[in-house]
Formats: sequence, structure tokens, C-alpha cells
Amino acid sequence: MADQNTTQHSLKKDKYVSTRGGNSHFLDLFCSKCNQHFALYQKDGHGRLLRMYLDRIFAPHELALLQSKMSNKTDMPNLKCPKCNALIGTPMVYEAERRLAFRLIHGSFVKKKSDGVYPPAQQTQNSHNTEKGEKYNARRKSIARCFDYQLTFISR
Ligand SMILES: [Zn+2]
Repeated sequence: MADQNTTQHSLKKDKYVSTRGGNSHFLDLFCSKCNQHFALYQKDGHGRLLRMYLDRIFAPHELALLQSKMSNKTDMPNLKCPKCNALIGTPMVYEAERRLAFRLIHGSFVKKKSDGVYPPAQQTQNSHNTEKGEKYNARRKSIARCFDYQLTFISR
């Protein structure tokens, strides 16, 4: 169930979907360098994700807006990670359909199946990771405390 702060998106069904034989699904895309989520995307058909059509980007808002703002590829910015600024994609036109897209740089992103909810559940995983980090820090602190204690002991 989507709560108030999340949006449940629905898959688009159009000629592009039928051209690719259906099998449309949502993907959460993450930067492979820093793990930052950068897009909720609808992938149509089977096969590898080589490009991101602007009209299949659902979130975040600024990125989803490009499909209505851009009319040619020279206006398009590069696709970069919003957190670490790593280059993920470059503007292109898929000539067969005259559709604007980002040509994705191999290895720059990680994809995960999504149920169309934005922001993704990954946020929870991130906080889990932070928790682990805190435990680690707590252990380091306790080691440091032991060390302090020994120093105190020696100085006596
Ligand atoms: Zn990044």
C-alpha cells in the first residue's frame, strides 16, 4: 500500500508497448557508483536496457518533465547522478520512432524491478545501511574507550 508520501504510477500502454510485444514493467534505476536512485522507468519488451526514452521516465519530477520540455536532442542535458554527478547517459534520438532518449553508459547504473511506487522502498534499505554504520561506529567508540582506559591505567 502506498502511503501519503508515495505515488503509485501506472504503466503506459501505447503503440510503443505493442511494437515491443508487451512485457512492460517498472524499473528503479540506481547509480552504480554511489547507489543513489535516479529514475523510475518503464521498460517495454524484453532485452537489455540500452537507452531511456524520455516518455518512459516517471520520476523524479524534474527528469519526467523533460519529455514535455525537450523537442530536440541538442536541448537535452546529459543524464547525471543527482548525488555524485557521475555520467549515466547522453542525449540521442531513436530514429525509427523519432523518440528522444538517453543512451545509457554501460556499467553506470544498476536496475531493480519496481512496482511503480515512488519514492522506492530503497529508502528503507538505506536507513538500514545507516543503522549498520551506527553499530560499527558504536563498536569503534567502545574500542576507543578501552584504549582510553588503558592509557589512564598506564599514566597512573
Ligand atoms: Zn552517484
